[in-house]
Amino acid sequence: MTAQHTATIASAELRPLPETRIAAAPPSLLGSTIGARRAAVLDTAVGDLRGMLAARRVVDVNSTPAGGGVAEMLYRLVRYSRGAGIDARWFTIEADAPFFALTKRLHHLLHGSWADGPDLGHGAAAHYADVSEANARALLRSVRPGDLVTLHDPQVAGLVAPLRRAGVRVVWRCHIGTDTHNACTDRAWAFLGPFLEDADAFVFSRAQYVPRHLAGRRVFVIQPSIDPLSSKNRPMDPSAAAAIVQRIGLRAGAGGDGPPAYRRGDGSLGVVRRDPVCLHSTAPPPPEAPLVVQVSRWDPLKDMAGVMASFADGSLDGAHLALVGPDVTGVTDDPEGSRVFGQCVELWRALPARARARVHLACLPMDDAEENAAMVNALQRQAAVVTQKSLAEGFGLTVTEAMWKGRPVVASAVGGIRDQIEHGVHGLLLDDPRDRVAFATHTAGLVGDRTRACSLGAGAHSRAREHFLDDRQLLEQAALYRTVAAL
Ligand code: UDP
Repeated sequence: MTAQHTATIASAELRPLPETRIAAAPPSLLGSTIGARRAAVLDTAVGDLRGMLAARRVVDVNSTPAGGGVAEMLYRLVRYSRGAGIDARWFTIEADAPFFALTKRLHHLLHGSWADGPDLGHGAAAHYADVSEANARALLRSVRPGDLVTLHDPQVAGLVAPLRRAGVRVVWRCHIGTDTHNACTDRAWAFLGPFLEDADAFVFSRAQYVPRHLAGRRVFVIQPSIDPLSSKNRPMDPSAAAAIVQRIGLRAGAGGDGPPAYRRGDGSLGVVRRDPVCLHSTAPPPPEAPLVVQVSRWDPLKDMAGVMASFADGSLDGAHLALVGPDVTGVTDDPEGSRVFGQCVELWRALPARARARVHLACLPMDDAEENAAMVNALQRQAAVVTQKSLAEGFGLTVTEAMWKGRPVVASAVGGIRDQIEHGVHGLLLDDPRDRVAFATHTAGLVGDRTRACSLGAGAHSRAREHFLDDRQLLEQAALYRTVAAL
């Protein structure tokens, strides 16, 4: 072990894990969107759970408080759980760069995709176990025997055994996976399996993701969801959306737009003041140009480079493409972000001038989560078409977010995206996510046919309302907690 490893582990032991403190919001707030009947069902379920938990805490642990779908979801689930009178907390682990390089490799392997990276042998397992043990000790300063802890994704799987030894009830929730298990997934499960043995229950986003070795174990399938009232998804006036997109340099001034204002989660008024941390654009898209938008982490599996290449082929003449992701500086749990963004910038520079003028790359600031969410909200609402050309996808909250906003979506038929979109009803699916020609054809077809785009957008909105709002996930989560609390 290096001196850096030792220092990280030692410092994690000295203090409790970092906690993301979240203000409570009563789940009844959702009633204005989901209606009285759904709100009443939710109220009964969370009331029952609250009674059953009594003084026990419900704790979520992951590797980052911002950036990516898990952080996005935890923020709201913890917020509504607290609003329901449950003592819900959210902590993030601390680890060093070799640890996160290892867990990023596991992430790719679980998606069934080969990835170079650290060897997964005994040395790696020992370091993973050491870091996990230290984080578990730090977490146990805030968690008591009998509390319910959900550990999210491979970064925190190593906490299962030490927490179980301390009498904590432990759920491991995996947000990634692939329908077709292969040598890559086998390799990842061979590494993770021994760390997971003692978990009380497991949660996956799709039944197909459950590995063979968990047959006969307590497994739940829970799909993610979105909060229709968050800064990312709440209604936004078109002129405010236009002003925000203009403020961040992804639309030329149309004149007459109001201030780049938005409602924060607590209902107060916010104004977008930050610039993108990085913006590569020769000039902002003209106000009348259709905007094609993909919002994703800078991860090779999101295939931002593939979107750019298909777009540059020419069939989308007249439209502009905005590839938007989080700031890549200082992200500890995703070591690939800055490399992938750098590759996109190189590709962008190499585009012929005419294509380059229609492609824009932006990294959004992450230091104010609500302002970042308002930027994403505005961009998705301003998009003529939202794309998600992922090569693999656990679920794909960006797709749900766009569907909720009634946007026509073109997305790969992979993972959880297949559960969200029925081709031709709620959006268009790309059978082969690497098929750039089909991707460009689908996207150009929707840019050029507003009637079809509107009809798919309307279908998408209904689908999101019916299946992918937070009340459904809160209900399923309550059932999971009731089962685990009763063990
Ligand atoms: N996201 C964001 N700002 C960004 C890029 C992404 O808030 O600059 C959010 C996005 O809106 C979505 C989440 O990160 O809520 C990504 O979740 P998804 O399930 O699509 O993919 P993941 O990153 O978890 O693989």
